[in-house]
Amino acid sequence: MADRDGFIWYDGKLVPWRDATTHVLTHSLHYGLSVFEGVRAYRAEIGTAIFRLQDHTNRLFNSAHIYQIPMPFDRETINEAQRTVVRENQLESGYLRPLVFYGPEKMGVSPKGARVHVAIAAWPWGAYLGEEALSQGIRVKVSSFARQHVNVTMPRAKVATTYANSILANTEALQDGYDEALLLDTEGFVAEGSGENLFIVKDGVLCEPEIASALTGITRSTIHALAADLGLRVVTKRLTRDDVYIADEAFFTGTAAEVTPIREVDNRQIGSGRRGPVTEQLQKAFFDVVNGRNPKYHHWLSKV
Ligand code: PMP
Repeated sequence: MADRDGFIWYDGKLVPWRDATTHVLTHSLHYGLSVFEGVRAYRAEIGTAIFRLQDHTNRLFNSAHIYQIPMPFDRETINEAQRTVVRENQLESGYLRPLVFYGPEKMGVSPKGARVHVAIAAWPWGAYLGEEALSQGIRVKVSSFARQHVNVTMPRAKVATTYANSILANTEALQDGYDEALLLDTEGFVAEGSGENLFIVKDGVLCEPEIASALTGITRSTIHALAADLGLRVVTKRLTRDDVYIADEAFFTGTAAEVTPIREVDNRQIGSGRRGPVTEQLQKAFFDVVNGRNPKYHHWLSKV
């Protein structure tokens, strides 16, 4: 990722991609405290546009607030920086990664005295779980690792530390021959994927787990709006792993994963074992929105 052409927005300036570096004694590298976002830009019918830019920026600022990281830039600067990196890298579509981290000015757990840095990179990134996954669905393993308790890393923050837990779960799933992990919370109820929220469909009703131990996904909130448009009821409740086993359909949502059907969990076929009809409808509606084909949601598209 480091050796490529292009520009990264780094502390207020556009710097050549290869020069966007930091010292090995960077505080965040040692203690794991950085907050970040994953954002997508699509080649929409109205021109290249960032999807739900303001919502992602707001979540970034919430993550920083939760961890008491003083943001050195205001929201509009961070919004504009995201539009700039897409434009300056001449991307028609792609993935954006805003990152807020502590620099190398000091060691020791307390970050006091370390400078806060902000970097924003953007690059082309296709379907996160593979193009085929979007139509065929993926195989998922319920992880032997629990999602961190709500008072461990705090789920409203998109914080790097959470992803050590995600990496354990995802690595285990891949090593065991699955495509992705589903994590349960410390009480054993369904939480989320390593980088996705979960939905199931049962008897025509869309259900999602309570998000106590999960990130409040922006794609998830998009699905809520689209479900309402389609006249689908959404129920949020505690879900057990066997609720997922006996679901008619299941799918993951995320900025990177978009809307990815799940065809199998723990070697149990989900529904027909293929992308289900409700999933397909919501997936189509989602791609219509992000690609600017649904005027009702043009306000979610920020042209670059
Ligand atoms: N949960 C986790 C752990 C994630 O990393 C992500 C991706 N950001 C999501 C859920 C989905 O969130 P969003 O739809 O906002 O990308």
